[in-house]
Amino acid sequence: MPASFDPTRRLLIKGIAAACLLSVTRVGFAATAQMAAVRVWPSSTYTRITLESNIPLSYKQFTLPSPNRLVIDIDDLSLNSTFRNITSLVQPNDPYIKQLRVGQFDNKTVRLVIELKQDVKPNLFTLSPIAEFKNRLVIDLYPATQTAIDDDPLLALLEDFNKGQLDDEDPVITAIPPKKADDKVVIVLDPGHGGEDPGAVGYYKTREKDIVLQIARRLRDLIRKEKGLTVHLTRNEDVFLPLRVRVEKARALHADLFISIHADAFTKRSAKGSSVFALSAKGASSTAASYLAQTQNEADEIGGVSRSGDRYLDHTILDLVQTTTKSNSLLLGREILSKMQYVNTLHKAQVETAGFAVLKAPDVPSVLVETAFISNLNEEKKLKTANFQNQIAKAMLDGIKSYVKLRKN
Ligand SMILES: [Zn+2]
Repeated sequence: MPASFDPTRRLLIKGIAAACLLSVTRVGFAATAQMAAVRVWPSSTYTRITLESNIPLSYKQFTLPSPNRLVIDIDDLSLNSTFRNITSLVQPNDPYIKQLRVGQFDNKTVRLVIELKQDVKPNLFTLSPIAEFKNRLVIDLYPATQTAIDDDPLLALLEDFNKGQLDDEDPVITAIPPKKADDKVVIVLDPGHGGEDPGAVGYYKTREKDIVLQIARRLRDLIRKEKGLTVHLTRNEDVFLPLRVRVEKARALHADLFISIHADAFTKRSAKGSSVFALSAKGASSTAASYLAQTQNEADEIGGVSRSGDRYLDHTILDLVQTTTKSNSLLLGREILSKMQYVNTLHKAQVETAGFAVLKAPDVPSVLVETAFISNLNEEKKLKTANFQNQIAKAMLDGIKSYVKLRKN
């Protein structure tokens, strides 16, 4: 601060700044909100409604009984055909929504009425524009009472995540009782992206989230035929799951290994081939690996999480990654890569490393497999075929089996 500083001048400047801010806000309000897109993502765990608009929406929510309804009043909005269309988006098998109604409540307010099939815990939040998305108002409907679905820990983990409880402390490495010789090897497959987050999109509009789910299901079916192996999927639906929840689900299931399945994309359409990544605590093995980790770690912002500043991503839990987990991850990666060379060109002949958030379980050997480049025209076509999906799945299975024989305990 200069010695000649004049406090009145400072106040004046502050006053001008405040006035500017006010006028900006007024302009903001003067511009009317326009609904740009509406989407409904039903899943067994939770249903998400996304309202996308040109400017942030301000809203009020309340519930009404018999029939059970959640009402959302959106201010300064005129009903348009995009928003009106939301009533047609409800699927008969949606576990939470019976029907949606929307109407111009008064000349400034649009009312969305969500008629419910069961009691829900709603979680509403807004998201600032990112990637192709404009401003989003997200309405997540969770079941009010938890009924475990096939011992799946997902719902409980999502709840903890939304309360911020998964972030409160560094992951505890609980001593898991030593496995008996006849215990099955637990494999958790993680189809990347899902729901609001399509992942990479190819020239022919093939979406990464759909392809990787198909490949994961094929690999799951192959694993189920193997004696000593058992398998779980982080998601088996088109649902968005935060990265941290995927990691914690693998840990909750006492996974012996974790494979996150993806399809790569690059600005140059000539880039092609399969690659395998493991977590690095010391920076990325190449600029491309670092770029990829960065884009993959954005999945939470694109898919939409209710809490800002997910501390997990800057967490120092890398320090906790145990030496055995690290060397087993590299071994798993090498074995998968060595089998994949028989079904596709390799983008990189070695396992690459970078700071992927989804590979940060301190006690579960984890790799991320980029099956092929969805941004490459030829590989996009291949990725859509059952034949190539089966070949990739079989290569991963062979890699898993050879890893299980070689791993250090
Ligand atoms: Zn991906």
